[in-house]
Amino acid sequence: MPKKVKRLFEQFQPEHYELSIEPDVESMTFSGSVTIRGRKVGPPSQRITLHQKDIRVSDVKVIKHDKNGDKKVAVGRVNTQKSFDELRIHAGETLYPGTYTINLTFSGKITKSLRGVYPCFYKHKGKEKIIVATQLESHHAREVFPCIDEPEAKSSFDVIYTGPKDQTVLSNMPAKSTKTNGNKVTTAFETTPIMSVYLLAFVAGELHAVETKSKAGVAVRSWGTVAQSKSHLEYATKEASDILDFFADYFETPYPLPKLDQVALPDFDAAAMENWGVVTYRESVLLTDPKNRSISNEQFATQVIAHELSHQWFGNLVTMKWWNELWLNESFAGLMEHVAPAALHPDWQQWEQWAIQDIALITSRDTYKDIQSISVDVDDPELIETLFDPAIVYAKGARLLKMLREYIGEEAFVKGLKSYFSKNAYGNASRHDLWAALGKSSGKDIESLMTPWLTQAGMPVVHATQNGGKLSLTQERFMLDEPADDTLWPIPLLANKNLEPGVLDTTNVELDLALKDFVTLNNFASGQYITHYVEPAHIDYISQQLKESKLPTEARINVLNDMYMLARHGDASLVDSLDTVKELAHEPRDSVWGIIARAIGAASQLTEGDKTSEDQIKKLKLTLAKDWHKKLGWDDQTSDDPNTIQLRHTMVALMISGEDPVTIKEALLRYKNTKTLQDINAEIRATILVAVVKDGDKKEISKLLETYSLVGADIQQDITSALSATKDPEIAQHILSTALGPEGFVRSQDVMRWVALFLRNHHTRKVMWDYMVKEWDWLYEVLDASKGFGYLPVYCASVVSTKEWKKKYIDFFEPRKSIKAMQRNITIGLADIDARIAWRTRDEVAIKKWLENFTKGG
Ligand SMILES: [Zn+2]
Repeated sequence: MPKKVKRLFEQFQPEHYELSIEPDVESMTFSGSVTIRGRKVGPPSQRITLHQKDIRVSDVKVIKHDKNGDKKVAVGRVNTQKSFDELRIHAGETLYPGTYTINLTFSGKITKSLRGVYPCFYKHKGKEKIIVATQLESHHAREVFPCIDEPEAKSSFDVIYTGPKDQTVLSNMPAKSTKTNGNKVTTAFETTPIMSVYLLAFVAGELHAVETKSKAGVAVRSWGTVAQSKSHLEYATKEASDILDFFADYFETPYPLPKLDQVALPDFDAAAMENWGVVTYRESVLLTDPKNRSISNEQFATQVIAHELSHQWFGNLVTMKWWNELWLNESFAGLMEHVAPAALHPDWQQWEQWAIQDIALITSRDTYKDIQSISVDVDDPELIETLFDPAIVYAKGARLLKMLREYIGEEAFVKGLKSYFSKNAYGNASRHDLWAALGKSSGKDIESLMTPWLTQAGMPVVHATQNGGKLSLTQERFMLDEPADDTLWPIPLLANKNLEPGVLDTTNVELDLALKDFVTLNNFASGQYITHYVEPAHIDYISQQLKESKLPTEARINVLNDMYMLARHGDASLVDSLDTVKELAHEPRDSVWGIIARAIGAASQLTEGDKTSEDQIKKLKLTLAKDWHKKLGWDDQTSDDPNTIQLRHTMVALMISGEDPVTIKEALLRYKNTKTLQDINAEIRATILVAVVKDGDKKEISKLLETYSLVGADIQQDITSALSATKDPEIAQHILSTALGPEGFVRSQDVMRWVALFLRNHHTRKVMWDYMVKEWDWLYEVLDASKGFGYLPVYCASVVSTKEWKKKYIDFFEPRKSIKAMQRNITIGLADIDARIAWRTRDEVAIKKWLENFTKGG
């Protein structure tokens, strides 16, 4: 049972903190003092309770302020309550509501947990170096200093940091003074605005920066360790500056702080963290090589920066009251990370990028019985981190807001946001405040429209039966592990023509259409539902629209995803998807190829182990890719737009994956003719390395293993993709034992990606699985620090399509259900496996037959 934790804000409300802190990396400890001024509220008691975890507290003093002046309060016992992370200060007298100041000193350990105060390691000129950094979201401030560690407990902060000389020290606000004492420097920062404690941060180490000023006059600096070239920070700096200006205009609300720092940290769990005024990132996100970077590298950097910078308003300026409304932060940032790039980089066609990134992710997860709704009640701190579900709180929430934006129109949407900011700035808000603002700006009842989407788990399917001018629409919940239930959603249909009513909020509706031509629902894919066209003629019409690329690109991605989901559910067969896909060789948009690949991937998975099918699938890939490949070749031209460049390299990757000997030979030649990995075109580097690992000289694999630690994070990712493509289990064994483990070179933040990739390849799966079982203690220790840890069962389940592997899964994970972060995902993983085995039982023979016919015909 989750424990019911009391909100400490209900008894003590901080107004201002003065925090002095001094980390010592020699002894891996930190010490400091904190003075908290705040109001005791609620009934009189003899105790004030703060949060703390794993820190030592001493010298506790309490002063009461009232109209008669300041009075020292006698402090009796001070004890910690471990299971609630509490520090209880007992007074020798009754404490009445009023203003108090608590002063205490504390000390703690710096651990490699990637949260609280933690060290980042890197090498420079042969020497080991350390950066001290913080990660306080969601509830890790209590691991650094005693505080009220709840988002609603907003206050101002004075941070005073003491560390060695010759280091850069950053915090939320600019430094106001420094004082040198021997070989130590104490830096005092300006007072922050009123903010939540989880947004507090400091970073100290040998850093250098690229800086600029935004049009609005905000100083923008991007920092990296001195081991990184400064030029790799230029792109992120320019993007941040443009995005900051964009959001200030878009929200019609200025950026609230005088400066923005962005820091690339060598050790970092998430992609980035939106600490107010000092955003921290993974190196792989923020650093981009100006001489050789891929478009997707740029897109990802811009998107993550846009996400974090939108939080400077959503989340930082206006904050959710409690973690159950985490989506207010994340869903918005999830939408805004596309809104800014769509405006600033029109040639990327950002909404296509959104569609290919998010739709498959959402629908693969929101279709199980045990999935959480977007808004969830959570009190137990151990469960707070499980709320950060990328598919639900981020992607699904963002899609719902996109749906709402399309439904009420951009103008009303922005007007509502502006009034939401001005009403709630520096405060906390709930969804009701947002719905009220958007309701007013749009003149529509937004609360009734949105509430079911947030409070009900799962998503609907809409069965659309059109006969001439009659259109019948029926909704039910779409689940892969249960029969449909009668949950109802108010579904904005967002069709290609005006439908009356535009919202399906009953189980069934019959519409009379003015014209008899076929309707396409969910025309820009914003609607959070799967469409099932029932009539064969209607299905043919949609397929034809796909083949002729007549639907908007987002819709093409969505329709192909719907077909895939319907096959997975048993309403259709994967053969239907394959029939459509085989006609799409001339699809012009690279993003759509991502979803084409998914259908082909499913064919592989559902026939896995059958060599004939494997060969036939290779042939399918070559048939689909050959025309574009012939036309586009290998080399980028200066006149190419981003789509052409990306499409070119997708085709080369498909040719190599289809094992075309000529293409493989060319890849190996290109590898041979390049001096260093840095010189291989970043767009195609991972693909070339895949060819090298699969078909090149074996000694090149050793070279890649040796090079890994010496190259940037972008190239490390390419090497990982390549190594995980080996077909030789013995080589895989060697790779894993060299790369992972306490002596291995893979940083803990990257371990999950290694595990997932080696599980996905069926040649290396068993090796990876056995490694996981054998080295679980190490793996658990490394992954436990990560927000993504709970998803391990999901990655494992996603590759299982046989009973034999299902048994392995159960044997391994059932006993681990006691790990709270994994509980739900172990269950969902099992449901996923059952659904896939059932799908295989239904479709395997038909897919094999289809492949055989296709190969004969082609
Ligand atoms: Zn975020």
